[in-house]
Amino acid sequence: TPVVNVIGAGLAGSEAAWQIASRGVRVRLHEMRPVRQTPAHHTGQFAELVCTNSLRANNLTNAVGVLKEEMRILDSVIMQSADSSAVPAGGALAVDRHDFAGRVTETVKNHPLVEVVNGEVTEIPEGITVIATGPLTSSSLAEQISSLTGEYDLYFYDAAAPIIEKDSIDMDKVYLKSRYDKGEAAYLNCPMTEEEYNRFYEALISAETVALRDFEEEKYFEGCMPVEEMARRGRDTLRFGPMKPVGLEDPKTGKTPYAVVQLRQDNAAATLYNIVGFQNHMKWGPQKEVIRLIPGLENAEIVRFGVIHRNMFINSPRVLERTYQLKARKDLFFAGQMTGVEGYVESAGSGLIAGVNAARLALGEEPVVFPAETALGSMARYISEADPGNFQPMNVNFGLFPSLGEKVRKKAERAEKQAGRALDTIRNFKNTIAH
Ligand code: FAD
Repeated sequence: TPVVNVIGAGLAGSEAAWQIASRGVRVRLHEMRPVRQTPAHHTGQFAELVCTNSLRANNLTNAVGVLKEEMRILDSVIMQSADSSAVPAGGALAVDRHDFAGRVTETVKNHPLVEVVNGEVTEIPEGITVIATGPLTSSSLAEQISSLTGEYDLYFYDAAAPIIEKDSIDMDKVYLKSRYDKGEAAYLNCPMTEEEYNRFYEALISAETVALRDFEEEKYFEGCMPVEEMARRGRDTLRFGPMKPVGLEDPKTGKTPYAVVQLRQDNAAATLYNIVGFQNHMKWGPQKEVIRLIPGLENAEIVRFGVIHRNMFINSPRVLERTYQLKARKDLFFAGQMTGVEGYVESAGSGLIAGVNAARLALGEEPVVFPAETALGSMARYISEADPGNFQPMNVNFGLFPSLGEKVRKKAERAEKQAGRALDTIRNFKNTIAH
């Protein structure tokens, strides 16, 4: 059986290496730290958490809780290590970061089929390989990746507007209409009076923002101006920009509102909408408050906050299969944040799938598609089938799951059903990928 190369021992690469070795396949795991650090890492440990020590919700009413449980069922090293290093955090799973990373490092390193190679990889190796070098991939390797994906399908910054669940929009306050009724009515419009606009404006310009890191300043305004920055240019700037009301008369009153916030459909199932032009730097708490001042969005459930930050990722819907294989080179897999999943657990989850499939390929078996009814599979489907013209990294959320095929009104009940279906499916699926 051939040796599989895994590049990067972060959240995704550690999990991928573990899954491969657990299937009896030898792994060569390449990690550049501590020989060479990224701008956000500080140690030489595998799976170092670069920011918060929280892995978010741990209960099954939340999609990331379901994802964790699926990964436990599939013997994830990231989940074993996280559960063993947990610290009290209410409904969330938070960890002692040193203990956590220490456990991942020891467990993976001590596997007899894992060989660790320290140093930066600058050439993509021949043979079965998983690339999991993360949002801060070193530049020489990034260049190599760009020659494979094409430079237009590799992004270095993530500037994205918030995405909300359609079910949480107050449909009595918004209306479907395209500007001047051109083409098919495609946008949900949230109309504002002058008073509502002024209240919103004040909150927007005074909301606390995220400080930029040194390595992020270079490209601050290129292409995408943060909405709060645009607002600071003058009280009416937004009314002549993304909040322009002309051609958007409210059908109920026949009048043009003072300002309009537009929501654009974000996924094929129309369960998610993004707020047009609202990429921003606001911290998540204040961002939620500002968004909830928009008429119709008072109870908005935000599945992805607006961001502008350094984050290398590939245009997966164009270049990757649902199995995390590169379309153009089937023995090359990508995993982690760079595939357009967002978050620690999601990154590890994609590493799990890529690892399972890389091992299968090494064993002469066909790679498998994880069922879309699972959190793992819904993410795999998202990154490979989202609109490639507007692809943005995303956290796992129930909006990515296929609908239940029955109307369940209560959100908690719906979540419970989604979770139940996901866990039943993954337990059955486990037999398919048994080793
Ligand atoms: P990483 O965990 O970064 O792993 C990649 C590994 O590859 C690293 O160990 C790196 O040293 C190595 N590497 C890179 N290039 C090479 C090379 N050429 N050769 C060999 N090795 C290489 N997510 C959250 O859920 N919560 C947060 O609070 C959070 N904060 C973040 C803060 C920042 C500044 C960034 C950039 C991201 C943050 N994320 C956060 C997003 C994401 O979840 C993490 O980046 C996560 O670590 C991604 O996992 P990964 O395995 O894809 O990459």
